[in-house]
Amino acid sequence: MTSVINYLGSFIEWYRPVSLAELLNLRHTYPGNASKLVFGNTRVQIETKYQQIEYPRLISLTFIDELKQLERTKHSFIFGAGVTLTRLQSTLILWKNQMASDAGVDICQALLDQLKHFGSTQIRNVVSIGGNIINPLSTSDLSPIFQAADALLELHSINSGVRRVPFRDYLMPHHCVSIKDDEILVAIHIPFPQASSANAYRRPVSHGQQSIPERPINQKVVGSSLLHQSAYLHTTGEAKYTNDIPQLQNTLHAALVLSKQSYARIKHIDISAASNVPGFVSYVSHTDVPSRNDFGAVVHDEEVFASSIVQCVGTIIGLVVCESERSAQMASRLIQIDYEPLTPIILTIDEAISHKSFLGNELQLQRGDLATGFGNADNTLEGVVLIGGQEHFYLETNCCMAVPSNDNGELTLYSSTQDLSNLQAAVAVALGVDANRITCRVKRIGGAFGGKGPRAEILAVAVSVAAVKLGRPVRLNMERDTDMCVTGQRHPYKIEYKVGFMNDGQFTALDVYLWSNAGCSFDVSMPILQTSMLHIDNTYQFHNVHLRGRLCKTNLPSNTACRSFGAPQSLLACETIIEHVAAHLNLDPLVVRCRNFYKEGDLTHFGQKLERWNVPRLFDELVESSDFIRRQKSVDDFNRMNAYRKRGLSILTTKRGVGYHFKSLNQAGALVHVYKDGSVLLTHGGTEMGQGLHTKMVSIAAEVLDCDVDRIHVSETSTDTVPNATKTSASISSDINGMAVRLACEQIRERLNILLRSDNDQLQNLSWDDLVKHAYYKRIDLSAHGFYAAPDAFNTDFGQNRANYHYFTQGAAAAEVELDTLTGDWHLLRVDILMLRKHFIARRLKSMKQLGIGRIIDLEFGSSEAAHHLIVELYDKDNIILTDSNYIILSLIRKRTDVATDERFGINETYPANSVKQPKDLISLKNVVLNENNTN
Ligand SMILES: Cc1cc2nc3c(=O)[nH]c(=O)nc-3n(C[C@H](O)[C@H](O)[C@H](O)COP(=O)(O)OP(=O)(O)OC[C@H]3O[C@@H](n4cnc5c(N)ncnc54)[C@H](O)[C@@H]3O)c2cc1C
Repeated sequence: MTSVINYLGSFIEWYRPVSLAELLNLRHTYPGNASKLVFGNTRVQIETKYQQIEYPRLISLTFIDELKQLERTKHSFIFGAGVTLTRLQSTLILWKNQMASDAGVDICQALLDQLKHFGSTQIRNVVSIGGNIINPLSTSDLSPIFQAADALLELHSINSGVRRVPFRDYLMPHHCVSIKDDEILVAIHIPFPQASSANAYRRPVSHGQQSIPERPINQKVVGSSLLHQSAYLHTTGEAKYTNDIPQLQNTLHAALVLSKQSYARIKHIDISAASNVPGFVSYVSHTDVPSRNDFGAVVHDEEVFASSIVQCVGTIIGLVVCESERSAQMASRLIQIDYEPLTPIILTIDEAISHKSFLGNELQLQRGDLATGFGNADNTLEGVVLIGGQEHFYLETNCCMAVPSNDNGELTLYSSTQDLSNLQAAVAVALGVDANRITCRVKRIGGAFGGKGPRAEILAVAVSVAAVKLGRPVRLNMERDTDMCVTGQRHPYKIEYKVGFMNDGQFTALDVYLWSNAGCSFDVSMPILQTSMLHIDNTYQFHNVHLRGRLCKTNLPSNTACRSFGAPQSLLACETIIEHVAAHLNLDPLVVRCRNFYKEGDLTHFGQKLERWNVPRLFDELVESSDFIRRQKSVDDFNRMNAYRKRGLSILTTKRGVGYHFKSLNQAGALVHVYKDGSVLLTHGGTEMGQGLHTKMVSIAAEVLDCDVDRIHVSETSTDTVPNATKTSASISSDINGMAVRLACEQIRERLNILLRSDNDQLQNLSWDDLVKHAYYKRIDLSAHGFYAAPDAFNTDFGQNRANYHYFTQGAAAAEVELDTLTGDWHLLRVDILMLRKHFIARRLKSMKQLGIGRIIDLEFGSSEAAHHLIVELYDKDNIILTDSNYIILSLIRKRTDVATDERFGINETYPANSVKQPKDLISLKNVVLNENNTN
């Protein structure tokens, strides 16, 4: 028989009553904060974990029968407060089917619709109805329906007996609810409603479609649609991340001690209360750093542990190290720090400007003559663009483990960083040892988006100091809130502009000041600001440009790299300028954009010549393919007809420079081992963070080695296999690591080819595995290191107004959005993104001819072997066919077989360009069109 359980733990007392009477008694004995009722624990756990609320007693509600009732009477539903949402969901489905059109069926449907989007199955399996609606601070998805349905709450207590409170009276202002300190919510009663006149709001289900071009016929693997190397592991939850590394014997756990002041001097640190926590081992601070406590990605303007001054809330002051994670977190909260507040506390860009609080000097970039540009302009406009920060929100929070070896002062670090090489260097500097004693490893990381560079390094340095001090493995697993507090964000910007332009919308001059909120230290804010300044033109020619940029030093955690490294802020500013100018001239922004597009061969404001410039064509094609002009009209019609819901439709182009500003970063290495069973172990300098980098590297290795993809494995990234690797960022990791992999594999393949050429013919048909085995017995080196240095890289030099990217990615997108102007609710109705077919990039239309005398047009792009043909068949069911220079079909709209000739029209088949019906004399397209007109 189930009986009451009472368990006294080291921190909390646990009760599990099995009857309502026992429950009411317990709550009567321990009312209010003396105990906490708990069912699914999804809210209570958040309170204890993130809000650091400690409850002395927990009372479990899971065994009380009265709370589990789920009943449908003639006039109402009765839901027990301890019914899980999964049970509620399945019962509602059953009732809905049984009730057909009875009263109450709408409530069933409304609740089912709401539950469909509630958390996840795992959450619905444990969450109780009572837990969802009882907490005044939770935002409850069930409350609105219960309120609308005039629900009654059935509350029990020893003092007040049974009370039935209307739901609408239960919810009170300022997040308060009317439940007494000793009351238990037992059930919710929902009376069946009278007939309703409300109309259901519906919107169609979202859907998408993607067309990907076929890979060139000469590539066997690269460009093919390969399964992500970790696809099954990711989707089954089996993929191992840093925090999944099994605990080593003797492992200690660390928790950060962070500043709670924005800007202050540390007067005194008292660890006595923390040291009394069971399992406490040590408090680690700046005095424990063996060599250098200074730190920084470019400029060393931070401290690993604050020694005297804290610059922001979240500055790392120390580490508490304990035998368990729970003890470490608890003890870290008991460290008492006395501060002397300092002034001024600067948080915003405007405050920094008024206090002249900056990092580094002003950056400048200019082209042309601004005065002439404004002098020639018919109009000038000025404005300000403000853009806030953004949290990276990687799925895996930062985590690291440092394992010291007592032999020769070696240290192995497992870290969720995207920049192992700099992590290794930073730890070596702090510990005062050579880099060859520090090995850093990472198997995969759960997203980074730029946030796991320098910010992950400082954490790993702190943990390494603790591990070396204590001579034991130490691991730090960051809670989400701590991670967000410490690691900085995307930089907020204030961008002031003045633009000069003619009456037709053509730009003549642009003067911009970019203010970046860098937070309390440099980190990589300077190259980010440079990137912003190099992208302010987006795809437009402003002719005379003067840009200035400044980093504002504020008392915020140091802001850091975040997707696209400063470009989004300036692209937003650029497009805002376009909209501003268009509104001023009463022109369609489309016209202003078109009028100012760069042309092939133009120079950007930093002196780079635009080659393979496809943006204007992408734009034209997208206007056409997205049916933009017609849809613009229907958006206008919609907006005329609807007072509160409004639609917007916009089309934008973009270019993004690929490559690092520092020449030295444009390099990569790879190490390839082929084992004698034919399996290949591939290592390169890039980190896998879900983006599929390892999968791409495997495809390159398979292509070059000429073996199956499944013979190749990437185990991890580590500093002892590929040294001095550039961080995985800047959208260039596939390019540079891919080249290094290729160069390594080419060496091995060449050794195998020499063997094939030198040996007898029998080798020619050997399988990959047998060939490798044979090579092994012939004592051929089956291992190679590849190194790639991008040839066209050079240092960005703002003093000379000079920068150079390897190339620009180019794209165009059209988006239609609907906004509810009353609630702010919005929906993305449709997006069209156009990526150019790579076969046609930078290829000019060389010729356009009619094939034979049929209605077939052959458009030839490029010349000789690089040529491609786009064949348009204008008869029967139209077809469009893309071929290479030999008329081998690469892609087509419809596969078919010609019944009369048995000719097949499919990928890799030859298009019968020569066997189409030939005329006596070749006729021109013009004549075809004329003939067509005459015939019709
Ligand atoms: C990942 C995740 C996703 C979520 N998604 C959603 C969502 O989509 N929509 C949404 O609305 N919410 C969502 N939530 C919040 C969630 O619904 C609430 O945390 C949950 O409803 C609480 O139910 P529980 O049974 O876990 O309550 P518990 O955490 O056990 O308790 C919550 C509170 O209710 C009190 N309590 C519980 N039962 C009773 C009772 N019978 N009488 C008196 N007091 C009681 C407890 O003392 C406590 O104060 C989500 C939470 C998580 C963690």
